[in-house]
Amino acid sequence: MNNYNQIRVRFAPSPTGYLHVGGLRTALYNYLFARKNNGVFVLRIEDTDRARYVEGAVENLIDTLHWCGFDYDEGPQKNGSFGPYTQSERLEIYKSYTQTLIEQKKAYYCFCTQERISELRTAQENLKQQTKYDKLCLHLDHNVIAQKLKDGVPHVVRLNIEADKKVVVEDIIRGRVEFDSNLIDDQVLLKGDGYPTYHLANVIDDHLMKISHVIRGEEWLPSTPKHVLLYDAFGWEKPVFAHLPLLLNPDKSKLSKRQGDVAVEDYRAKGYLPESLVNFVALLGWNPGTEQEIFSLDELINIFSIEGVNKSGAVFNIEKLNAFNFEHLRKKNDTEVVRILKEYLAKSKFADHKFDDDKLFLIVEAMRPRISFVKEIIENSSYFFESPESYDQEVIQKRWKDDTSENLKSLAEEFSKLLNPKKEDYETALHKTAELLNIGNGKLIHGVRLALSGVGGGPGLYEILFILGKEESIRRIEKAIEKIRI
Ligand code: GLU
Repeated sequence: MNNYNQIRVRFAPSPTGYLHVGGLRTALYNYLFARKNNGVFVLRIEDTDRARYVEGAVENLIDTLHWCGFDYDEGPQKNGSFGPYTQSERLEIYKSYTQTLIEQKKAYYCFCTQERISELRTAQENLKQQTKYDKLCLHLDHNVIAQKLKDGVPHVVRLNIEADKKVVVEDIIRGRVEFDSNLIDDQVLLKGDGYPTYHLANVIDDHLMKISHVIRGEEWLPSTPKHVLLYDAFGWEKPVFAHLPLLLNPDKSKLSKRQGDVAVEDYRAKGYLPESLVNFVALLGWNPGTEQEIFSLDELINIFSIEGVNKSGAVFNIEKLNAFNFEHLRKKNDTEVVRILKEYLAKSKFADHKFDDDKLFLIVEAMRPRISFVKEIIENSSYFFESPESYDQEVIQKRWKDDTSENLKSLAEEFSKLLNPKKEDYETALHKTAELLNIGNGKLIHGVRLALSGVGGGPGLYEILFILGKEESIRRIEKAIEKIRI
């Protein structure tokens, strides 16, 4: 543990336009760790790669994090004592710190052209040597440097990495990892456009923002010795590092778009609940130590520990996510499900229809045991929102007999006599009709179900009748009698 007296962690995405599920996991573990330890969760936008700039990406990112349910304490659009929290607004800071390193001869100007760098690389490759900068500009006379700067010769600033040093990264998940400084390139700190590289900005900001723990994906582990060298060059205390295991496809390859969705936004659009996605992602590489798998965010805060994070890669298993969605949907109260259903209805072809809340509550109650996604209420049972225009041919063949029309006519007549019928009243009326016609109840049940819904399955028939109401049910029975031909 270092000397920081408060836990401060950060999620530091580059705004690429979407939030990768790996990024969501990083954000989540940082969030859980902060909340569990009364710490501070910072959002920092690392947007110094101008070539990758995407319009609206930051707003989208903030909105997605908000949807997931974990808000940050400090960051863009929020106050905080360590701002600005967007790196493109901190360029002067990076320049002035780089200047200090140059003065101390820990960094140097490099005027080599792209051409020379490429030639050097090719020559090294041909000789089967490690490709790295040969420090040519380190030895430039200071008068030459001053003149080149005056003449505006394009340049970068590089870190002067000493040879033959052992660079040690202490990682609380992976343990002690050693790197050989001879294998590390004199990394660029400031680029030709005056922007800092990821390494420089990341280290300066983690230091200035008093970040106590750097929790990030394993793909950043190879960058960490460079960061360690930078901390040492500045003479700064290092944060605690924790590198999270890779996310893998079921075939153990690195999680990629080719084998499924990787953007949180895609899962959101597909109708996954934020609770289930967060719960699922929490278990990708972290083990609660018990059999329990379904957790709320508050429960996760309570039991999360960095020590429970595994070293080995975590397989992203979509079936498990689907099962989680089913479980979390079950835990939601009707009011919340109705709220979500209304959002979907507003985006559906029923956007202009008015459905009263009482009816929506009944629909949710009827459909809830049969769905894993709220939007399935509309997809699987559109008959609650509109009269069917067609009827399942297979069901017709199996269930619609010569006498069905006549039988349903009698049933509709019986229904019409009912006054404010409840579910049971429809049932009684159906039994009575069957008795009068001297047929089994089944003969009526299948026909009327098809007439009301256009399909063969679904929730209880009397529930459907009650939700649709007497007038509408009778209308649909009459329509089916007219339309269904065998
Ligand atoms: N900007 C890096 C990213 O896009 C941050 C890595 C880190 O957390 O240091 O993930």
